[in-house]
Amino acid sequence: MAVSEPDCLFCKIAAGKVPADIVREGERTLAFRDINPQAPVHVLIIPRDHYPTAAAAGAAGEGLLDEIAREAHEIAEAGGVAEGGYRLVFNTGADAGQTVFHLHGHVLGGRGLEWPPG
Ligand code: IMP
Repeated sequence: MAVSEPDCLFCKIAAGKVPADIVREGERTLAFRDINPQAPVHVLIIPRDHYPTAAAAGAAGEGLLDEIAREAHEIAEAGGVAEGGYRLVFNTGADAGQTVFHLHGHVLGGRGLEWPPG
């Protein structure tokens, strides 16, 4: 898997070439606020390395998804939404609404979230 893809928006954010509202910097991950928030708390967590989907990162077997899940909870705690509940979403593939093909976990909270999603 390529560590970085030249045309990938989130690789550019990870490299500091595109600005973002960063909330947390890890050695292997970066978290920043979604530019078009769908909830009072809407943060994206990405690996610094380029994996197109959660499936690709999972297949790599490096524990990145575990790390993102842990960080999602810490971000939810910091945002005051851990107790009320939050959603961690990995849109995977175009039919699921994935538009940026660099793995990102959406952390959404701070309002009642409907189920099933649209
Ligand atoms: P997806 O639809 O699951 O691929 O989610 C991509 C997300 O990236 C969307 O929620 C967008 O609003 C968000 N997004 C796109 N460009 C930027 C950016 O430059 N900064 C922060 N979020 C972005």
